[in-house]
Amino acid sequence: MLTDAHHRIIDYVRLSVTDRCNLRCTYCMPENMRFVKSSALLTDAEIITLLETLASAGISKVRITGGEPFLRPGLIPLLAKINAISGIRQIAITTNGVLTHHHIPDLKALGITHVNLSLDTLQPARFQQITRRDQFAAVMQTLDNLLAHQMQVKINVVVMDQVNTDELVHFAALTREQPVSVRFIEEMPFNGQGHAFSGINWNYEAILDTLREKYTLHKLPDAPHSTALNYSIPGHAGNIGVIPAYSRTFCGTCNRLRISATGSVKTCLYGPDVLNVKDLMRSGEPLLPAIQQALHHRAANGFEAEQLHTSAPESMSVIGG
Ligand code: SAM
Ligand code: SF4
Repeated sequence: MLTDAHHRIIDYVRLSVTDRCNLRCTYCMPENMRFVKSSALLTDAEIITLLETLASAGISKVRITGGEPFLRPGLIPLLAKINAISGIRQIAITTNGVLTHHHIPDLKALGITHVNLSLDTLQPARFQQITRRDQFAAVMQTLDNLLAHQMQVKINVVVMDQVNTDELVHFAALTREQPVSVRFIEEMPFNGQGHAFSGINWNYEAILDTLREKYTLHKLPDAPHSTALNYSIPGHAGNIGVIPAYSRTFCGTCNRLRISATGSVKTCLYGPDVLNVKDLMRSGEPLLPAIQQALHHRAANGFEAEQLHTSAPESMSVIGG
């Protein structure tokens, strides 16, 4: 079992498989984002070695993220190999949906049913403003196809002041007919300097207050390590959640490790890189002692971790969300 300095068990890894993206969401990266060379990325073989090692130490859930994971060549065969690792009980994916619809039958065939789809607006013109790309139709096609394949879909909506707050109730309305979970995420300061960030006006309480003006919300029990506070709306097939990602109310039960596409390890989203597993593997050094050591120095919460992080704001595409 991997445990941290605060007696939290770590059984979930978020692994970025590429830093590249086919969108340029303003809250995530600048238009002129620079990506690393392919040789700097973890290879498929390194990813498998890494996950086998982590699984041997109790990691049972893997979320594949990015950048946009479906831009990695050979993603589906890689997922098949990850699926075969003993001890990995759940694989989930976070995607922007632009290329995803082509791969849904493959995901289903692998038993990968948990897909988080990022979608911050239901308006095509606004989608182009937020993402700087004209791909709304492709993302909506992915949403439709995911639901047609009975996948477990969570829609991630980053709530941005003066950008999409007028659509919160429209997203909640989606859950009336569709069995989706819409999760409203507080905006975090990881835009790679794509636009100025000066804190948030829309925290989870403001989001809930706005939804309550139109809907009755009933609190649902949250899973043990959930970052979302979940609610049902009477008569709706789906549900809604709010993720206090900036308010950081959930740190006490955090069970995650984050590994970037280049092998950098973070023990907290807000903290600095603490280790590079690619470097360790390429120099033939063992992984687990170094990971355990990093966890023994893990900050108690995201505020403490932020104090340790002195470099310029990163892009979330590097961290993986
Ligand atoms: N490209 C994929 C996608 O967009 O779903 C996966 C990577 S993306 C970095 C993972 C998640 O991070 C997405 O749901 C995205 O909305 C979220 N995200 C990115 N930047 C963020 C920010 N500054 N604040 C809050 N969430 C952010
Ligand atoms: Fe790309 Fe996802 Fe970042 Fe948007 S949030 S720019 S889709 S990595």
